Amino acid sequence: MTAQRLDGKAVAAELRQEIKQETEVLTQKGVRPGLGVILVGDDPASRSYVSAKERACEEAGILSREIKMPASSTKEEILAKVAALNAAEDIHGILVQLPLPDSSIEEEVLQTILPEKDVDGFHPVNVGRMMLGLPAYLPCTPHGILHLLKRSGIEVKGKHVVVVGRSNIVGRPLANLLSQKSDLGNATVTVCHTGTPDIGAFTREADVVVAAVGRPEVITADMVKEGAVIVDVGVNRVEDASRPRGFRLVGDCEYGPMLEKVSAITPVPGGVGPMTITMLLYNTLESARRTLG
Ligand code: NAP
Repeated sequence: MTAQRLDGKAVAAELRQEIKQETEVLTQKGVRPGLGVILVGDDPASRSYVSAKERACEEAGILSREIKMPASSTKEEILAKVAALNAAEDIHGILVQLPLPDSSIEEEVLQTILPEKDVDGFHPVNVGRMMLGLPAYLPCTPHGILHLLKRSGIEVKGKHVVVVGRSNIVGRPLANLLSQKSDLGNATVTVCHTGTPDIGAFTREADVVVAAVGRPEVITADMVKEGAVIVDVGVNRVEDASRPRGFRLVGDCEYGPMLEKVSAITPVPGGVGPMTITMLLYNTLESARRTLG
């Protein structure tokens, strides 16, 4: 069996085209969607994520306003920038790039973003609404995964999905969304983490395995069943002197050996990543649309 490659790039391109068209319509009505991005410090990975988000906004016709702040910025200075974006009429979505140099202030900073501009879906109001199945901004990576599966013709309804990882931004919300009685959910979900003694015992039973761990190739081919669907969220840098940048990106799953065993798999890069940014555009467009009532 050679696995279907779940091409996040292609699905994201299709979705971004739709977002661009709707952005044009909204802009003609006088509301151009706008995203405000706060970047504190100069972590190279964060910088490259922010540039990718800005590029994506530009291509979709969405206004993007970046606020760069030095790593030494105080909590008060960061909160003041959030407050300014909360008040800005041309900004419909706000994103604070994580991690912040001082991670102990992240919660407070995120909770200062107005829930109606919280396009990352991290504010407790949106998290609570999501849990209750009420309309909310859904966190971009889990939401992107659900759309990637759906648009690739993979139904999760009635399937056993094992999610490895329980972070607040990926594993936990994804497990919640997958288990909801909804078009994109209705699956039976198991969540594994560092407290699970034998993860393979669960993943081998799964129709769909989602790995959101952040450890290179920790889910090996012998841990999944023949014909399973694999969603690899992990993005890990592995030293590689043969590459110009001195590293290559690998996922949490053993991609090569899995290709001959599973029915479908997301590559890293080019799988989940492009979908995450796309859902950020989607939420920003949605927020702008709501201002029209
Ligand atoms: P995180 O906050 O570090 O959470 C990792 C989760 O995996 C935790 O729940 C942890 O368990 C669990 N875990 C860690 N090592 C484990 C092991 N050996 N066995 C079983 N469980 C283990 O990470 P995250 O933010 O969810 O991100 C996960 C990965 O996805 C990272 O590589 C990240 O870069 C990537 N990511 C990609 C995208 C994208 O768009 N492609 C978006 C977000 C994240 P405990 O809770 O028990 O500690």
